[in-house]
Amino acid sequence: MTTPLDILSNVFGYSAFRGRQQSVIDHVVGGGDAMVLMPTGGGKSLCYQIPALLRPGTAIVVSPLIALMQDQVEALHQFGVSAAFLNSSLEGAAQAEVERRFLGGGLKLLYVAPERLLTGRFLELMGRVELSLFAIDEAHCVSQWGHDFRPEYRQLTVLHERFPEVPRIALTATADTPTRGEIVERLALQDAEQFIASFDRPNIRYSIVHKDQPKQQLKAFLKGREGESGIVYCLSRRKVEETAEWLVGQGVSAVPYHAGLEAATRSANQQRFLREDGIVVCATIAFGMGIDKPDVRFVAHLDLPKSLEGYYQETGRAGRDGLPAEAWMAYGLNDLVTLAQFIQRSEASEERKRLERSKLDALLAFAETTACRRQRLLGYFGEERAEPCGNCDNCLDPPPTWDATEAAQMALSCVYRTGQRYGTGYLIDVLLGKDNDRVRSNEHDSLNVFGIGGELDARQWRGVFRQLVAAGLLAPDTEGYGSLRLTEEARPVLRGERALHLRREPDRLQRRASRRGSGAGGERRSLEIAAHEEPLWNALREARARLAREQGVPAYVIFHDATLYAMLRERPEDREALAAISGIGERKLERYGEDFLKVLQDA
Ligand code: ADP
Ligand code: ZN
Repeated sequence: MTTPLDILSNVFGYSAFRGRQQSVIDHVVGGGDAMVLMPTGGGKSLCYQIPALLRPGTAIVVSPLIALMQDQVEALHQFGVSAAFLNSSLEGAAQAEVERRFLGGGLKLLYVAPERLLTGRFLELMGRVELSLFAIDEAHCVSQWGHDFRPEYRQLTVLHERFPEVPRIALTATADTPTRGEIVERLALQDAEQFIASFDRPNIRYSIVHKDQPKQQLKAFLKGREGESGIVYCLSRRKVEETAEWLVGQGVSAVPYHAGLEAATRSANQQRFLREDGIVVCATIAFGMGIDKPDVRFVAHLDLPKSLEGYYQETGRAGRDGLPAEAWMAYGLNDLVTLAQFIQRSEASEERKRLERSKLDALLAFAETTACRRQRLLGYFGEERAEPCGNCDNCLDPPPTWDATEAAQMALSCVYRTGQRYGTGYLIDVLLGKDNDRVRSNEHDSLNVFGIGGELDARQWRGVFRQLVAAGLLAPDTEGYGSLRLTEEARPVLRGERALHLRREPDRLQRRASRRGSGAGGERRSLEIAAHEEPLWNALREARARLAREQGVPAYVIFHDATLYAMLRERPEDREALAAISGIGERKLERYGEDFLKVLQDA
């Protein structure tokens, strides 16, 4: 009898299951319903693909993104699996052909867009075929709170009603508990077994820098990462375009992506990112859901995301393949002010606004923490982790702290004395005793806080204010103009009852030096490739690119970076050695074995 492990190794070329894959697969093969919560890159697809290959009949995979179905199906063809998709991108004849194969029982997997699935015609077709299972991918699309909400997802209960004997497996990478609850309820999965994996992404290195000269900081981050694919997230469409243009001027292959671009341009840019090696996409958060590209080596944020959930999801698009990846962010207090304005000016209810503000606070606390970022991030999602991770900026390069009690008192009194009506720029002018018109006309040059802050420079004061906001001692006004007011928490500090330790702002020189190091923002290539290995590495990538071009498929569909990297390390000399490499199943060995053995021999 064929086991799940046989399929894993013969078809997909992997030697062992990851995490809970095996238990999910056993459960679904046995006919049970499952709800699978696994982080991006956790290996969700195999959880339904292997049962689909083991059970009789056709598996129906509901997937919200028609743009990506084709790549998913192509990836299965490469493994020698019979699969197809049905969505509005297919012409009539092609559609009829897929339906014919479906009815003839010739498909192991059929990917279908939800609106198509729900048509009376398709429901009727399904009634005439043996079905092995329903997989509902990106199941969080049932939640109207996320920005991926798809109303059709709510009608998917019809599958259960019409085909009660067919097992269902719902999958999502959404980490927050309310959304999980909503999925169970909306998809009627109360009786499904839940498989919840750890949401840790150990291969992603988190680092956060304070925004100073963002473009230069981005440039320094990108140095040494030439040829790697990455995503640069910006808040506004304008900034997306500006950044992409600037990067192109710097010699980076960058393309913009946001919802305001013409559909054809948008899809062309996305295709380039998916298919070519080493494209950097500058994007708003409109970009990303369902981007299956496994070799995204970094995600950079030039602006704060809206919440830690958003940060986790967006950074999670890096390193699906398990190889080292970077999540890098530059942020400043202005970002916070902008987001606070967004919230304030939105049409949402007061309750909703309060919730969004508290999410923003959590994000800010995360950005300012001097402790392990991974512990904080996972802790936010309810996952306790005993040890610091050793793979975030704070672990690798612990930030020095200083007794900032006195400075905090100065900053807080300055806010108080000036009437809690000003933003950081002005407050710093007062502290530093800047004799300008605005200060003079307000008669703030006569206050006792005027000019008492000379021991720190403007940048250091910005750091103090930012951290006071993050610690909840100061709050930006809810109107969102950026002025700061005191909170209750500020009292004990003002009265001298509470000492305060803050992170020291690195001075410019130090920062420049540490950029060269291996710490946060250092010039670290994600894959360790020695100079003498470069020619072989490039030859392997070229061979892959050529095969991909010939077939018009993304390069990673042929082999993942991880597989090429293993070839580089192991230097297999014959088919048997090649077959032992992770990611090379029977079909790929047959199709590409000779090509790659030749590249390896010529090296
Ligand atoms: P998800 O959908 O959970 O984000 P995928 O199903 O796309 O993740 O899998 C992420 C990557 O990990 C894919 O490239 C896949 O081929 C690979 N993968 C999945 N399971 C295994 C495994 N057991 N061993 C090795 N690689 C795996
Ligand atoms: Zn850490």
